[in-house]
Amino acid sequence: MIESLVSDKQLVDLKHLLDEAQKIVLTCHVSPDGDAMGALTAFLSVLKRQNKDVCAITPNIFPDFLKWLPGADEVQVYEKNEEQLDPVLKAADLFVCLDFNGPSRMSMMEAAVQANPAPKIVIDHHPNPEDFASCLISFPQMSSTCELLYRVIVALYGEDFLGYDEAVCLYTGMMTDTGAFTYNSSRSDIYYIIGKLLEKGIDKDKIYRNVFYEYSAERFRLMGYVLYVKMEMLHEYHSVILSLDREEQKRFSHKKGDTEGFVNIPLQIKGNKLSIFLRENTEQDNIRVSLRSVDDFPCNQMAAEFFNGGGHLNAAGGTLECTLDEAIELAKKAVRKYAHLLK
Ligand code: 5GP
Ligand code: MN
Repeated sequence: MIESLVSDKQLVDLKHLLDEAQKIVLTCHVSPDGDAMGALTAFLSVLKRQNKDVCAITPNIFPDFLKWLPGADEVQVYEKNEEQLDPVLKAADLFVCLDFNGPSRMSMMEAAVQANPAPKIVIDHHPNPEDFASCLISFPQMSSTCELLYRVIVALYGEDFLGYDEAVCLYTGMMTDTGAFTYNSSRSDIYYIIGKLLEKGIDKDKIYRNVFYEYSAERFRLMGYVLYVKMEMLHEYHSVILSLDREEQKRFSHKKGDTEGFVNIPLQIKGNKLSIFLRENTEQDNIRVSLRSVDDFPCNQMAAEFFNGGGHLNAAGGTLECTLDEAIELAKKAVRKYAHLLK
């Protein structure tokens, strides 16, 4: 048996909250990724099989490459359907917050959730959780929320209870949050859990293809363009800045999720330590910032200091309210400030 991590007290609290609740809402961070969606769909399935009245709601749409996840078709999107979902949020007597560490990460859904005083269970692996949970299950050393959720589900209901669909969802989150087990994935526990998920019958190679082999041709043309035309090397600082404006995204028929993973690519350049991707948001009037690093360069610290964001040591993000040119200048300033860790 794998060590549960979750303390007896946490388990008792968790059981109590889930047992007592009549109307549960599961949610995750804005612009959900594979880990957020994997956790959401896995726990949705588990709680439904526990005969719970449960609804899974994302703040905004999730990318097409996650639509195949078992149960994704049951997930509601707040931004698309506020009138119908506001009453659901109001009526909830328990929230389960997956893969985020502060209410602001719910973005357009934050106010509606926070207006309801119902208890919140937070299951997450981001460092420095804010004080908004009634029951906080936070383990920043976990590769993914899905790895943590596997432990929670097994602790609550036992290994045998976990089903095939749930195993697929959990594996997807573990895979996507570790770049298919290429970073943040050197603990042996991860592979023990994968072994257990494989025993449920999952086809990990198929899951990989479902996520990473489903892109449009336009995405690759956009990727080529970004790398050829829009990649600025800051050699002295072993850093790279990528940028994209709205017009460029339109030119390549950009769809949500198309730029997923671009920020990781420059880390493959020999000696590179930091990659920054600045993209004019196509949904709101701001700039989305993504940061990736290797070894111990603290992306989350830089994101908090310069980009109104946060995240993990090697992967963080944020948002800027300025022009793309100003964002590029700010990113260069940030790199210069952190020169001592980059040179
Ligand atoms: P991405 O670059 O994929 O958008 O985000 C990378 C990591 O940073 C994710 O773990 C995500 O949760 C975190 N992150 C992204 N954007 C923000 C943000 O605006 N605020 C905070 N606190 N974390 C973020
Ligand atoms: Mn995650």
